[in-house]
Amino acid sequence: MNIHEYQAKQLLKQHGVAVPTGEPCKTVAEATTAAQKIFGGGGTLAVIKAQIHAGGRGKGTFKDGFKGGVKLAKSADEVTALAKTMLGNVLVTKQTGPEGRQVNTLLVAGAETIKKEFYLAVLLDRANSRPLIMASTEGGVDIEEVAEKTPEKIIKEHIDPAVGIQPYNARNVAAALGLKGELFGQACKLITAVYRTWWECDASMVEINPLCIVEGADGKESLMAVDAKIGLDDNALYRHADILAMRDLNEESPLEIEASKFNLNYIKLDGSIACLVNGAGLAMATMDIVQYYGGSPANFLDVGGGASKEQVTAAFKIILSDPHVKAIFVNIFGGIMDCNVIATGIVAAVKETGLKLPLIVRLEGNNVAAGRTTLAQSGVAIINGDSMADAAQKAVKAASH
Ligand code: GDP
Ligand code: MG
Repeated sequence: MNIHEYQAKQLLKQHGVAVPTGEPCKTVAEATTAAQKIFGGGGTLAVIKAQIHAGGRGKGTFKDGFKGGVKLAKSADEVTALAKTMLGNVLVTKQTGPEGRQVNTLLVAGAETIKKEFYLAVLLDRANSRPLIMASTEGGVDIEEVAEKTPEKIIKEHIDPAVGIQPYNARNVAAALGLKGELFGQACKLITAVYRTWWECDASMVEINPLCIVEGADGKESLMAVDAKIGLDDNALYRHADILAMRDLNEESPLEIEASKFNLNYIKLDGSIACLVNGAGLAMATMDIVQYYGGSPANFLDVGGGASKEQVTAAFKIILSDPHVKAIFVNIFGGIMDCNVIATGIVAAVKETGLKLPLIVRLEGNNVAAGRTTLAQSGVAIINGDSMADAAQKAVKAASH
């Protein structure tokens, strides 16, 4: 699950990371009120930031041609005008794809005076099986480009997960960023706090781009997370009710939301053969074999090890709402799963949805005889596959008509 910048900043703040003070606003009136507080309190510049689950907002363009999802404003009136333009408008960035994302929330904050921009992230390095702190003096820009063109500018510090972040880890990163004096000490604390946010929230990624040296009204320099992005591990959300409450359904694909209501792991793909499979490994193998025989899968769908009749029906409805689907390939290996439950689910789903598309079924395993009988006696037109390979070939053939 991903969250918005303003939510990521709340989590970082809770863990002791300095962030600019700002307010999420869903209406123009809320944005105006937030701006009046900033300018009324002696502020001279505000920043208005489109909240969408995608980066590159600063360089993005709205569908109506308006440039920039991150804007500076010198007065409350200017904030009001910007909020009117940005709210409800669709922002297209490098990361959104051409369809863009509708902006439903703005973050309105007092703008910081930025002296220097760095990059800082914590993620899991799968190759080393360890958490990794990544940093760079080249912040505020496209980090993928820095990694490609000037890889020596990316600082990497691995953390031993058994002992957690140690003071020397933070010092290594702060020194490599070239920080000195008071800022060095601040950086060590901030890097440790960012790592703890990542660890304690069960995040898959925390990215701060830019991490900034900002100058306060008194001329004093300090470090601040000016942008923040956090991705969470879905499997750990059950133990973070506060983070789960941050979920924004507007940012997710409607079919995937529907699937998650029924505990189905569904990911839409571009092909024409819908796959309904139990177990993620078998689902991957099914997509491979479909591809091997010249077809293309319309989705990844894992109904889980112990799917109910209701789940199977929901799964059918979800895969059928994709207009590109030309055939359905059900591939079930009953380990924990009772094949007869699947068979009953298939029959109910076909009748309920009035299925007209070719349906290819390969059933094997626990209680398979009863399952086959249920299918045979149902009167539903089914193409039986004798094996996974046989069923895959039949599915590819059916989808090619
Ligand atoms: P992104 O484009 O989606 O990554 O959004 P960012 O939050 O990183 O904003 C893009 C750029 O806008 C930053 O790199 C900054 O240069 C600038 N920016 C963001 N917030 C402020 C601010 O408070 N003050 C100033 N002066 N610039 C800001
Ligand atoms: Mg950024």
